[in-house]
Amino acid sequence: MENQNTSTINIKSPITGKFLYELHDPSSSDLKKIMDVSRQMQPIIRAMSLEDRIKEVDKIMQYVLNHADFILDQIIAETGKSRTDAYAAEVFEVCDVIDVYKKMAPKVLADKKLPIPIFLMGKKSRQWKEPLGTIMVITPWNFPFYQVIVPALMAFLAGNAVVVKPSEVTPLLPLWKHFFANSGFMKDAIQVVCGGKTVGAELIKLRPDKIHFTGSVRTGKKIMALCAEQLIPVDLELGGKDPSIVFDDINIDRTVNGVMWGAFTNAGQNCTGIERLYIQEGIYDKFLKELVDKTKLLKTSHPDRNTQSPEDCDVGAITADFQVALIEDHIEDALAKGAKLLCGGISQKGSHHIPPTILENCTLDMKVATEETFGPTVAVFKFKSEEEAIQMANNSPYGLGGSVWTSDMNRGERVARALVVGNVCINNHMINEANPYLPFGGTKDSGIGRFKGEDGLLTFCNLKSVIIEKQSDSIELQWYPFTKEKAEVLSNLMSAYFSKPKNWIKFAVNGIKADSIGKKQKL
Ligand code: ADP
Repeated sequence: MENQNTSTINIKSPITGKFLYELHDPSSSDLKKIMDVSRQMQPIIRAMSLEDRIKEVDKIMQYVLNHADFILDQIIAETGKSRTDAYAAEVFEVCDVIDVYKKMAPKVLADKKLPIPIFLMGKKSRQWKEPLGTIMVITPWNFPFYQVIVPALMAFLAGNAVVVKPSEVTPLLPLWKHFFANSGFMKDAIQVVCGGKTVGAELIKLRPDKIHFTGSVRTGKKIMALCAEQLIPVDLELGGKDPSIVFDDINIDRTVNGVMWGAFTNAGQNCTGIERLYIQEGIYDKFLKELVDKTKLLKTSHPDRNTQSPEDCDVGAITADFQVALIEDHIEDALAKGAKLLCGGISQKGSHHIPPTILENCTLDMKVATEETFGPTVAVFKFKSEEEAIQMANNSPYGLGGSVWTSDMNRGERVARALVVGNVCINNHMINEANPYLPFGGTKDSGIGRFKGEDGLLTFCNLKSVIIEKQSDSIELQWYPFTKEKAEVLSNLMSAYFSKPKNWIKFAVNGIKADSIGKKQKL
């Protein structure tokens, strides 16, 4: 069925609510053209040297450096995030990722020599890292620049053509137009296709060679089902409900500041933000008081922020209407079930400016304790022992990130190892994501696959396994014709080699026999 420009989405500022622009879904024939162009680009990109691909990616870095303020303005206009959040996690991070991959890619993408077992003596084995074809990247709304550009450039470095479908909540359409007009980046190697959810689903039906998805668990499952129909490989970076465990031997001042940032940066709209805080009983009252006192000092976003408050805010706006409603629902649910509000809360229903909120006396029947809130809220719990903290932290369907704060580094490592998560920090939180050398991904409902690091680059490759052998006049033992003599030699080779100790004489005698059978035997 032809999708005749089915939907139009109004993009508006989460800070002021003002209309920014209209987003129109491309038609089905436009989408088909996009995939056709991508397929035409595949052999061109594949034929480029890695050095030339790196030169292209360098143009992205130059664009970011030359237009940082413009990029920040576009990101803030559509997400409502604070300028420092946008700077650190999107603009700065993109440059850092490029800088690291320029160095890492030649090593990771180089052909790899691998050893060969003794039975295959005389042959060489290799792994070649080849492109998959067209990678489709589907992205969420919380880091709309970083989430588009980073997987796209990684897939491109690995030699793929790329089609990206950004979130319809924060598509950054004017930014992408500006980027492709001004960066000088190779035309059509990366295509950004803005549109709604059906655009994503339609593009999957056109069978890209791999899907890299970041978003909610609900949508991740739908995408995996669509991919299953055509056996398209898929990596899923999904949600989280990160626990942070604070032991009573910590430096309170530093840890309070770290936890505050871990919980409230990007207004909590991070899949690895702290949503569950476990504080050991000996320090509970003191730590919590300082956390609440300091949190109350944070400046929350405001509708007049752009005109009346030129200075940055600490906690930006909530980007999407539906997210405001979800966060409010979680807070109301917790309060109705007996949680104590220590700071923040809902002052004006429906406002995108939700202050950082700390809830005490939380129980497992509350949504804030178990479901992903994806907002500036933290549910606080008290624990006695290390075992209890681990049990509470692991009691979640999610397994994305987590953190442990302690002066006892042995305990820190022990607890970090016990957490069933993909990413963990000792005496910090979520900073793993700022290290492009570290792979990122989740366990349990938090996803499948790893992104970034060496593993993340290889995920965009066809890891081709290769055996190389010279021509000769010899027939191999396992080739036809099968004879009694061959079976005996095989059996002797096996028993000689795998016995303890190895019987090298028997092995050598049978090796020579195998060789001579191969030379004289013809079918
Ligand atoms: P969030 O951004 O809140 O995590 P989603 O997980 O719903 O939201 O969406 C993430 C991305 O997945 C968006 O780009 C969205 O348009 C896209 N998307 C949503 N539903 C589908 C679908 N059925 N098929 C393909 N893409 C989809």
